[in-house]
Order: sequence, then C-alpha cells, then structure tokens
Amino acid sequence: MDTPIFLRACSCRRMEANGLGIILFQYAERLRGLGYCHDSIHQYTEAVEHFGFWRSHAHPCSKNVRHAEVAEFLTSHLAICRCPPPATRTYITCRAALRQLVLMLGCESPGRSPRACIGPMAALIERFDRYLEDVNGLSDATRLYRRRYAREFLTWRFKARRFDPMSLRLADFVRYLSIRAPSIRPDSVSVMNGSLRSLVKYLEVERLCPSGLSRFWPKMPNWKRTVPPAVLTQQECRDLIRTADVKCATGLRDLAILRIMLDLGLRCSEVAQLSLEDVDWREGTLAIRTNKQRRERVLPLPAPTGNAIAAYLRTGRPKSESRQLFLCHRVPVGKPLSAVRVRGAVRRALCRIGHPRGGPHLLRRTFATVLHNRGAPLKEVADILGHKSIDTTALYARLNLRQLEKVALPWPRE
Ligand SMILES: [Zn+2]
Repeated sequence: MDTPIFLRACSCRRMEANGLGIILFQYAERLRGLGYCHDSIHQYTEAVEHFGFWRSHAHPCSKNVRHAEVAEFLTSHLAICRCPPPATRTYITCRAALRQLVLMLGCESPGRSPRACIGPMAALIERFDRYLEDVNGLSDATRLYRRRYAREFLTWRFKARRFDPMSLRLADFVRYLSIRAPSIRPDSVSVMNGSLRSLVKYLEVERLCPSGLSRFWPKMPNWKRTVPPAVLTQQECRDLIRTADVKCATGLRDLAILRIMLDLGLRCSEVAQLSLEDVDWREGTLAIRTNKQRRERVLPLPAPTGNAIAAYLRTGRPKSESRQLFLCHRVPVGKPLSAVRVRGAVRRALCRIGHPRGGPHLLRRTFATVLHNRGAPLKEVADILGHKSIDTTALYARLNLRQLEKVALPWPRE
C-alpha cells in the first residue's frame, strides 16, 4: 500500500471512534484511487466523519447508511449544526463527499440490485435502450437521444398520473410535439419525432401500448436548408489550434483532439472510442472501429495529426491500464474520456476564438467543405465522414463555388 493518508495518530483514533469507523479509511483510499488530490481527500473524509458523528446521535440504531439520512443531514442538520470541530459545514463539500459515500456503499454492499430501487418508467427506458442496441444495433450516441426524448415525453405525460403506457393515445404524442417544437431547432424536432416513433414501435412489439399507434404516425415536414451551414475560415482553424496550451497535459490532449477533428472530420463519439491499437504508426493510418453505422473505416493519418497524438502519448497521457487513446486528467484520472467531455473540450476551444454557440459539428463541416473544395467528389467525402447517404454529406459540404463557376454561363450582353 502507498503512504497512509492520515499520518497523525490522533486523527486515526478519532476516525476509528466515529460511527462509520473503518468505512472512513476505505472511503479515503477509494478517493485516492479515483485520483482526488490530498487536500480534497482530507476535506471529503472530514465531511463524511461529520456525517458519521451526527448519524450516531440522530439515528443510533440505524445499521446501513440510507439516502434519507444523507438528505436529512444536508437539508436539516447543516444549517443548525453545533457539532465539535472538525465538522465541515460547507453544503457543497458535504453534498459532494456524501455522494461519493453513497456511490461507494451502493456498489459495494452485497445483494442489493440497482434495478430494485428504480421506478417502472426508468425500468422501461432501460429495456427500450437494450432493445435499441440488441435489435436495432444503434450506436451509443443515437441511443442517448432516443432515451432522452422518451424520458422527457413519459415524464410529461405521467407527471401527475399513474404510469400506464396502455393509456397512451396518438393525440398525446401530437400534443407533446406541438408544445415542444417551437422552442427547439428544426433538426432537433426531427430527432425528437423519430425517437418517439421508435419508442412507440418498441411498446407495440412488447404489447405495452395500444396497437396501431405507429401506423398513423404524423409526417413531419422536412424543409431543406436554404442557407448553407457555417464553416470555419482557414485563419479560424489556425487560431483554434493555437488555443491549446501545449505546456500542460490537458492542452496536449485537446490539441490532438482538435487536430483529429479538423484533419479527419471525426465525430466526438468516435474520438472518445479511439484506442491505442487504432493508430498504425508504421502504415500511418487511423482505424475508426465503431461509428454510427457500425462499420470500420481506415483513414490516412496526416503528419501534423500524428505529431499531435505522439506528443500527447509521450508527455501528456496519464498512466493508466485503459487502452483508450484519450483519458481524463481530472477526477477520475486515467479513466477513458467520454464523448461528452470531448465535446466540452471542443466547445471551450471554439468559445475562445469567438464561436460561443459553435459545436463539434462545425469542425466536421469545415473538414468536409475544405475537402470538397479541393476537388474531392462527394462520394469520397461521404466515405471519409462515414456517411451512408451522400445527401447527408451534401448538407455538410458548403457549395463549391469554384466548381460552380465552371458551369455558369456568361451573362448575355447587348
Ligand atoms: Zn454537525
């Protein structure tokens, strides 16, 4: 074992005497394993120690820590606390510390099924998700939206009623869509509509809702874009690369991510899923194994992209057993970076160059447009982006003005 977290004998004695006793030492070790810094471990453990002290007086007979006790401590006790020092009373610290305690006890207590404590709606969404993965073979990113819109709809519909999908009518969906549509973008309305239809189809297969709902599903108008989507200029691309602070490990990681997205047009989920084995240094290629359509594609690795990845691997990437290419540098240190965090890194970089509302797709569109403007046919761009249909690619790549000039006829003069 490494050096003990609590060096002073009086601290150890105090913790042993606490109502939570040995759990406190396990708790501190767990935080260290997750990559928390020394100060945070002390702060959090003291907060849990405070909770243990209060609990042994307020609930002396209670055996297992319950959610209700944690809630009572946070909402009722902290405000009127008169416990002896060191009793951490900062609400945010206590809440974060106790959340970790609940997670630790929740995953370590034997015989407790996590499914037992979730409601019928959450259980339904879990089964729906498994169906989407096993039967429809949908990617994580697509399923994320399907789950989200299904949850939002069901919460709205059964807010004040007993959860009973058999009572669903087509009018419920139509009403929900008409309420939600005005406040979200047309693309999102289309995704929401598709997600709800997919939910209904699943409910029909499982005979959980009246049959025939999906047959009369309303068609959504699908207007094509009249204005081409925004793309970054070459100068903005250079500025974006410069926003990464290459003196720190996170900066090296973000630079490699930005380069991959600008030079190869990858999606956030694809960047997050890259593993060390996907980079073939000898051949100079990058394999994208899991994409939206579950097909593999191998892309040539441009020198600047390869250099950025190599620099991250040499000096930036934390030590970890994980084989994922990009890892977390903050808690949980060394764990694979999620697609959400990749998106966050790209958004922050875009914000720094004056695109506060820009997302990762801006980089993907820029890549597609640059490639198409250099003369690559749409089919080639579609293959590199991993699109199944060229129509999707056409929406990405902005009009190639130089190619249009060639086909434009001169204006007749007098
Ligand atoms: Zn107290």
